[in-house]
This record gives sequence, structure tokens and C-alpha cells, in this order.
Amino acid sequence: MSDPQAGTAPEVDAVLVGTGIMSATLCALLRRLQPDWSITVVERLDGAAAESSDPWNNAGTGHAGLCELFYTPELTDGSIDITKAVRVNEQFQVTRQFWAYAAESGMVSDVPGFLNSVPHVSFVQGARRVDYLRRRRAALAGNLLFAGSEWIDDADEFARRLPYMAVGRDFREPIALNWADDGTDVDFGALSRQLIGYGVRNGVAVLFGHEVSNLSRQRDGTWTLTIRNRRTAESRKLTARFVFVGAGGQALPLLQKSGITEARGFGGFPVGGRFLRSANSAIVGQHRAKVYGLPAPGAPGMTAAHLDTRIVNNKSWLSFGPFAGWSPKFLKHGRSSDLARSVTPGNLTTVLGAGVSQLELVRYLVGQLGLSQPARVRTLREFAPSAVDSDWELTTAGQRVQVIRRDRRRGGVLEFDTTVLAAADGSIAGLLGASPGASTAVSAMLGVLQRCFPARYQGWLPTLKEMVPSLGVTLSDEPALADELRTWTAKALQLGPGGNRS
Ligand SMILES: Cc1cc2nc3c(=O)[nH]c(=O)nc-3n(C[C@H](O)[C@H](O)[C@H](O)COP(=O)(O)OP(=O)(O)OC[C@H]3O[C@@H](n4cnc5c(N)ncnc54)[C@H](O)[C@@H]3O)c2cc1C
Repeated sequence: MSDPQAGTAPEVDAVLVGTGIMSATLCALLRRLQPDWSITVVERLDGAAAESSDPWNNAGTGHAGLCELFYTPELTDGSIDITKAVRVNEQFQVTRQFWAYAAESGMVSDVPGFLNSVPHVSFVQGARRVDYLRRRRAALAGNLLFAGSEWIDDADEFARRLPYMAVGRDFREPIALNWADDGTDVDFGALSRQLIGYGVRNGVAVLFGHEVSNLSRQRDGTWTLTIRNRRTAESRKLTARFVFVGAGGQALPLLQKSGITEARGFGGFPVGGRFLRSANSAIVGQHRAKVYGLPAPGAPGMTAAHLDTRIVNNKSWLSFGPFAGWSPKFLKHGRSSDLARSVTPGNLTTVLGAGVSQLELVRYLVGQLGLSQPARVRTLREFAPSAVDSDWELTTAGQRVQVIRRDRRRGGVLEFDTTVLAAADGSIAGLLGASPGASTAVSAMLGVLQRCFPARYQGWLPTLKEMVPSLGVTLSDEPALADELRTWTAKALQLGPGGNRS
């Protein structure tokens, strides 16, 4: 519905809601492509990227499909489906190129402040799982993006690579590692702040402590946003030709308020995450890798346990998890009424349908919520048998609002992907879901540009190809280009093999 007061509201070319990695990436892209546009970023908190993109609210894995076993499920005929691993890796190559461009062009100045080489490793125990990992490796062997990983099933080599995980281990049980040296640990919070900083240095306005509480479409196709100052409770209006709803878990409620038909029928279900964390240098120094296992039967893929090196503010930590948490909030700093308010007559059947079909997930969540600290450390001991409770503290990570999509047969289905919703006229877009999430922010935001600005996109292509030289190309099919880009990005981002900076 159009707003009668809107005529008096100041008008800008674009409003980006939120300062997480999605809006921060879009902010940097748009600023480079359209230096003449007026852009305002609105953030409800007092600092940037303090929700899911904060380093302690996610696992910081630069998801490239190198180690995550849930991207390569075993099908009923025993074959391994590598489609998702390849797609995620292709998307990460796009991300890597944009970051390399950002580093070389001075958009970001402190690369080690957000990106570090950390090997990505798949880990399995037991003969059946070792066999699965071997077949996964064979299935990926033909793809050049996965070339160069190593197979390790020998106790001495295991102990040399992962000393903390070797102490106290009974090596009579078969184990195997698939080891990829070109993995990364990413502080998406630090990166978001650098990208927003680039925007601010180049004329982007940021309103911190301000919440977009409503938005309505005007007759001329622009959007009028109601923006509330959370300190003073005063509201102001702002009119924009384009709106990006990068509000993380709050994206769904805002898109519902916009009234666009594309958001109709969608629902959201929040799943929280918790991690064990250690700063004990004696064990942190004994483990430099992100080691992913298989998810528990019936649990969603992204809940697969992993023991990770994290590098935050130039300090190394270990983190293990995730353990599921639950809260009805759509943001960590959100409201307890978020879930209830997101259920509307338009999506009630979708939400109920998804609930009925997700009994295994509910069972998994209930089991996780009942875990005690000793029980969590017992799970950790499957990775590091010598782990002691006193080395580990429990942290609460961010909220992932999983997308519930309408389904003719079941009413609704819960999805674990990331979905971009955009109005048909391209005047508003938003991002739902959180997996693979931050690592694919660049592809997701390039997708937003292509869908929302079809008339300008062709004109932007030369600049976009400077940023992402492989744009539009499947790198898996282009060995020479893939090699050239790998060398360029490694140099620009100071990435080196084996978990050391080059
Ligand atoms: C436990 C966990 C582990 C994860 N691990 C990984 C990982 O290893 N690798 C990976 O790539 N991804 C991971 N993810 C996903 C990743 O964190 C998210 O996909 C990504 O951070 C989302 O970025 P965003 O910009 O969409 O949202 P956010 O970072 O949540 O930012 C949204 C921003 O919008 C603001 N906002 C919300 N509503 C309003 C409003 N109405 N007005 C103004 N501002 C508003 C919020 O305050 C916030 O700053 C993980 C997520 C979780 C929860």
C-alpha cells in the first residue's frame, strides 16, 4: 500500500538493510559500479556485522565443498552425489576472486584480519565410513577444483598432521582423512566492517542504531521505509528506488511486510548454534585444520561436527560443534515474539506442513537441548580422545532461520539452503536462509544485481569481470583459467598451502 506522507521523505537511490556480509558485499559492489548513486545502509545495532556474520556467531569456514561430507551424500544405489560440493566450490572461487580484487584495489586493507589459510579435512572412523570417504574422493577426483587433496589412513601420518586428535586414539579402528591444503578460515565480521568502511569512505551513509520497521511501495514504484531510532524511539521516512533486505533472520518478516507476491507462502524456522571453544595454547598449537565429520543420522547436514582452528583478531582458538540450540528469536539480538509473528494466514499451512514432515529434526533438537557439558565434551572426544572439560567453554552462536517453502504435496518443506527473493520489477530483493551462507555472498549478490538491474547489468559487465574474471564461466571446465586465477588469488590474498601464509 502506498504511504501518503512519502512525498516528503528524502529520496536515495538504494537502501541496504543490515551490515552483515550480504549487505556489506552489495554495498561494495554497488559503490564500485555506481559511484554517483546515493546509498544508505540502515543497521539496528550500534556496530556492524554483530549478528550471524560476527566471527563467533558462525564457524568461519570458507565453504568450498572441500571437506563438508554433507555436500556429497551417498545415494541409495551407493554412488556419491558431488553436485552440491562442486557448486559450492564454484561459488567460492567467485568469492575468492572478488576478495583478491578488493585487496588489490584497496577496498580492503587488512587481509590477514579476515582471511587465513587453514587446511580443510574430512575425517571418518570405521570401515564402512572409510569406504564412503574413499568413494567420495574417487567421485571428486575428476574435478580440477578438488585436485591436490591427500588421502591419509596411516596412524603415524595422522598423528603428524593432527597431533591433538591423535593423543589417546585407538588406531585399531580404521580411520581416514581427506586433506585439502587450500582451505580457509574467514572472519566474516571483520570483512563486513572493511567493506562497509570502503563504502563510507566513498560517500555511503550508515545509520547505526536504526531499525527498518516497515516498508511500503509507492505508486511510482519506489519504496518508502519507516526507520526507527532505537535510542530515541523517533521514526523517520526514507524513500528508495531500490531496497536490499540483508537483515539476516529478520529478512523474512521484512519481506512479508513489503507485501511482494514473491514472499507469499514462505515461512521461517530458527535453529540456534552453540560451540565449545578453547584458548588453551597447549592444545591450540597442536591443531591447525578444520576437520569435518559426518552428520548424525537424521540430523541436518550443517549440524555435522567439526573441530576447527579459528583465527580472530590475529589470535588462534579451537572451536568444536555445532550443538543445536533453540530460541524463537530470528536474530540473536531479536525478540521472543519473532517466530509467532512470522506465522500469517498466508503461510500457516506451509509452516504446519513443514512441522509435520520434520519430526526427525525435532527429535534431534530435543536431544541436543538436553545435552550437559560433560556430554558435549564426550562428543568432542570422538575427535580428540584426550579432551578435558576444563579446556572448553560453551559459546552461543547466531540464529539460522531456515526457509520453509510451499510444497503442493506436503504443504511445506524445510530447506537448508540460501534463497534470494526479488520482486518481479527488481525494486526490492532479500536473502533468506543461511547455508552455505557467508562464503557464497559474492555469487548471491551478483545474482541480485543481475535480477534487479537487467537494463544496467550489461553496462556493468566490464567492471564486474575485472572483479571476477571467471564470471559466467564454469571453472571446473577451464583448467588454464582456473590455474591462473588460483595463482592470482593466492598471491593477492597472501594464501599459502599447509596452513601457513605464503
Ligand atoms: C551457527 C552458524 C554457523 C555458520 N557457519 C558458517 C560458516 O562456517 N561459513 C559460512 O560461510 N557461513 C556460515 N554461517 C552462515 C553465515 O553466518 C550467514 O549466512 C551470514 O552471516 C548471513 O549474513 P547476512 O548479512 O545475511 O546476515 P547477518 O550477518 O545476520 O546480518 C544481518 C544484519 O541486519 C541487521 N538487521 C536485522 N533486521 C534489521 C532491521 N529491521 N533494520 C536494520 N537492520 C536490521 C542485523 O542487526 C544484522 O546486523 C553460519 C551461521 C550460523 C548461525
